[in-house]
Amino acid sequence: MYRGRFAPSPTGRLHFGSLVAAVASYLDARAHNGQWLVRIEDLDPPREQPGAAKDILNTLEAFALYWDEPVEYQSQRHKRYEERLDQLIAQQRVYACHCTRKQIRESGGVYQNICRNRQHSLKDSVALRFLQQQPITEFCDQLQGKVCFPQAQMAEDFIIKRKDGLFAYQLAVVSDDIDQEITSVVRGADLLDSTPRQIALYKCFQEKPPEYLHIPLAINPDGNKLSKQNYAPAIEAAQARSQLVAALAFLGQATADIPPKASCEEILTIATYQWSRERVPRTRELPCPETT
Ligand code: GLU
Repeated sequence: MYRGRFAPSPTGRLHFGSLVAAVASYLDARAHNGQWLVRIEDLDPPREQPGAAKDILNTLEAFALYWDEPVEYQSQRHKRYEERLDQLIAQQRVYACHCTRKQIRESGGVYQNICRNRQHSLKDSVALRFLQQQPITEFCDQLQGKVCFPQAQMAEDFIIKRKDGLFAYQLAVVSDDIDQEITSVVRGADLLDSTPRQIALYKCFQEKPPEYLHIPLAINPDGNKLSKQNYAPAIEAAQARSQLVAALAFLGQATADIPPKASCEEILTIATYQWSRERVPRTRELPCPETT
């Protein structure tokens, strides 16, 4: 059974780029007669905006992007992350790191795994890193094809729990995708280089990774990623129908058969029927349409 998901971080309202990810993951799930879940990735309270999670869910509903099963919140799942962390510790795949960001920047930006053999205690408030044994340097993406990364980049022991005690994205996302039995991850191409790290964690947990499909990232005319940080305009429910059609066009899907007055439900039904992975542009970035 296909199980997909949309996993927004509640750092602000949905913008066109996040709508595209929601629509693509929704349509791919529905076109496979699958389930589609929503998970709020509220892992990092300092970066969250009050009310954003509720606003995101309301917006999805206004766009008729209805999910199956109750919404999961990462803030409620720390116990599971702790258990996963313990599993990795038992496999001797975790070590404490005292290096500062400044030190890492000065040594070239990629962490050189220098605390590996220093045996710092895991108990203090320190960052915990995942010890890479056989780094994954390539994987097969359902849209982008074979994607390769430099060995030096993927050999970096990444952080799984931060010095401030917060769990890091890679561990939380893998833990949740396993527990929620996600079979297909459809998300923006900005997360391509997280994928080999996540696959490495799947291996440690002896779980089969999902299939991955990375859609093009919506960028501004100035070439930057649309993000809450650079004030990408929020999508408005009042323009739901035109925004949905714009998202479909961005994803290379046919829109000619959509009647001008179609409701969001109708648009999504037609789009599910017509959904074609082959039509999605095989590129990592794409300018977003001017109307947004
Ligand atoms: N929460 C992540 C984000 O908003 C997405 C995680 C994922 O799809 O794996 O960028």
